[in-house]
Amino acid sequence: SRTLCPVGRFAPSPTGPLHFGSVVAAVGSYLAARSAGGRWLVRIEDVDAPRAVPGAGEGILRTLEHLGFEWDGTPVWQHDRLDAYAEALQALRDGGRVYGCACTRKMLADAPRAADGSARYPGTCRAGLPAGQTARAWRFAVTPGVVRFADGVQGDVAEDVAADVGDFVLLRADGLFAYQLAVVVDDAAAGVTEVVRGIDLLPSTARQIALQQALGVPTPCYSHLPVVVDVGGQKLSKQSLARAVDDFPAAQVVLDALTCLGQRPPAELAGAPLAEIWPWAQAHWSLEAVPRSAAVHARSDYDR
Ligand code: GLU
Repeated sequence: SRTLCPVGRFAPSPTGPLHFGSVVAAVGSYLAARSAGGRWLVRIEDVDAPRAVPGAGEGILRTLEHLGFEWDGTPVWQHDRLDAYAEALQALRDGGRVYGCACTRKMLADAPRAADGSARYPGTCRAGLPAGQTARAWRFAVTPGVVRFADGVQGDVAEDVAADVGDFVLLRADGLFAYQLAVVVDDAAAGVTEVVRGIDLLPSTARQIALQQALGVPTPCYSHLPVVVDVGGQKLSKQSLARAVDDFPAAQVVLDALTCLGQRPPAELAGAPLAEIWPWAQAHWSLEAVPRSAAVHARSDYDR
């Protein structure tokens, strides 16, 4: 069931200029909210400060504006939100849901692998720190059981976080709050009801729902969009050297993003200004038309 007045958001990490893959996620979240008369927020996710590139957040906001996105309120920057993360961590600690962990990366490298090959934290420090050791990181004590949710694009999803991931880190050994905690605290504080984002984040969703339940905050509706891949099948990203969308005409970028999302802009819109494209997109947005596949290809000139 969808909320009457949804609140959506776009939450880019400022690791470089906006590339076409991120624009697709922005367009999807924007239209899902706006087509239902809802609000749309922007949050710059610079919680992982060492990965943030100076000026990239401001650049992303300028690019969004240039593409004709209109956000509600003032963008939130995670570097302003550290007190809120600390408070949430304390609440979880008070509830006995957080414990200190002394394990080093090297110790964990030998941990048994889950079925998908990923490392599951074996729970070494859950019952207490080994004698003489001090906590490096702080972990969330996951409750056993399967987390289920109905994804707006991908259908029913079930994940056993305890079995697949184990107790995950909330406060890292380098003193930084983990993305999982920050995103849950920020979405709840902003009243976000619809999270629409790339399918690369699908494996994080069950962890985020588990945290929401522990913090006693509502779980939004989730829709995971296909990610845009280059001709080699690699996700467009800074690492894949995807080009900045600033290099392309804004109206063309939005039209191409709509096409990637399975929307079918009419031929007349080719060459039309943004002022004509956005109203059409809002009026015709269909989440059902979004491809269920994990990946979509864009025109190759966005690749690099
Ligand atoms: N900051 C994350 C990213 O850029 C997105 C987080 C989210 O949408 O929940 O990958």
